[in-house]
Amino acid sequence: MRVLVTGGAGYIGSHTVLQLLQEGHEVSIADNFSNSSPESVRRVTSLAERSVVLRNVDLLNQADLNAMFQDIQPEAVIHFAGLKAVGESVAQPLKYYRNNVTGTLNLLESMESVGCRTLVFSSSATVYGESTALPLVESTPRSATNPYGRTKLHIEEMLEELAASDGRWSIANLRYFNPVGAHESGLIGEDPQGIPNNLMPYVAQVAIGRREKVGVFGGDYPTADGTGVRDYIHVIDLAAGHLAALDYLQESKGAHTWNLGTGAGSSVLEVIDAFARVSGQPVAYEIVDRRPGDVAENYANAEKARLDLGWKAERGLEQMVEDMWRWQKMNPTGFDEIPASEMTDEELAEFLGS
Ligand code: NAD
Ligand code: UDP
Repeated sequence: MRVLVTGGAGYIGSHTVLQLLQEGHEVSIADNFSNSSPESVRRVTSLAERSVVLRNVDLLNQADLNAMFQDIQPEAVIHFAGLKAVGESVAQPLKYYRNNVTGTLNLLESMESVGCRTLVFSSSATVYGESTALPLVESTPRSATNPYGRTKLHIEEMLEELAASDGRWSIANLRYFNPVGAHESGLIGEDPQGIPNNLMPYVAQVAIGRREKVGVFGGDYPTADGTGVRDYIHVIDLAAGHLAALDYLQESKGAHTWNLGTGAGSSVLEVIDAFARVSGQPVAYEIVDRRPGDVAENYANAEKARLDLGWKAERGLEQMVEDMWRWQKMNPTGFDEIPASEMTDEELAEFLGS
């Protein structure tokens, strides 16, 4: 299939592009490199020994987007492009509404313009808000606790209304739990800019010596060891969920929603322990105040994805940490800085070929 991947240079996108190429799909990527580097794409093409079309396109630029759709004529779109920092979204909500909601609206209009109506969307377990009814099932009522989460909620609703209005659309809302880990080659992985917001990359940077200690946000939650519990999912399993959803959409119209998680939770201290064990490095930590908006515990019921898609997460915490540590050791400061947002499509093609 000809698949267009928005945000395909990013963390989850790059791992998914690799699997698409390995499965024989023809892949094009649209990214503005606001949070990624074309180096990830170069490494993906070398791992897959296949090429991709890489376009420097901002979803906020409808003219560029339309031109790209006319040129590529994709049969399906996997839509990762979006901003994802919760704290930043609280400080700059309009930036998040514009980029995530308007960006998606533009994308849908471009899709319509070429009759492409198959879409896999990156949603998030954040749409369950502060729900305490565990495990979280897809029918759990949705809510948002911050502007980032609200963009995901709005987009899910927009996609449902679109599918209801026109029976030709096939749409998957994939609700990710906590994606971590990296490809086993150590060549691609998550490369957060500045201080990591998420636990796992923070712990990795402490283990490698870039940061002094992990601040554990709360030690008095009603969990086994008092620290927050989350459903961490290996990015390779998560990527495979996208291919399974794409297959399903070939046979099925309408809007569908699936949780992508393992169904089991790990605490902050379990993550820190696993990292210290696997890396052989001490991981210093200190229990500090709870982070506002955090829930004690959160994990998926992933049965619907197993039944409908035949998909199940295969990798456990140990492997997530091993792969994350390999990536961290091989790329202690992430991908090299490349001023890609200024690069033309010709320059990008040349970069990938080099
Ligand atoms: P990422 O930042 O690594 O990837 C997002 C990509 O989108 C980046 O390459 C960025 O440059 C690009 N992008 C952003 N705005 C764009 C725009 N207007 N036009 C073109 N490109 C744009 O993030 P990720 O972790 O790979 O997440 C991918 C998606 O999954 C996001 O939508 C995110 O909200 C969602 N998600 C992520 C997590 C997580 O913990 N990583 C959890 C749940 C959901
Ligand atoms: N956490 C922590 N210290 C950090 C970052 C996160 O203790 O520096 C905790 C956080 O309170 C939560 C878990 O680690 O219990 C996962 O947080 P993350 O931000 O990675 O994901 P979230 O589930 O909040 O999206």
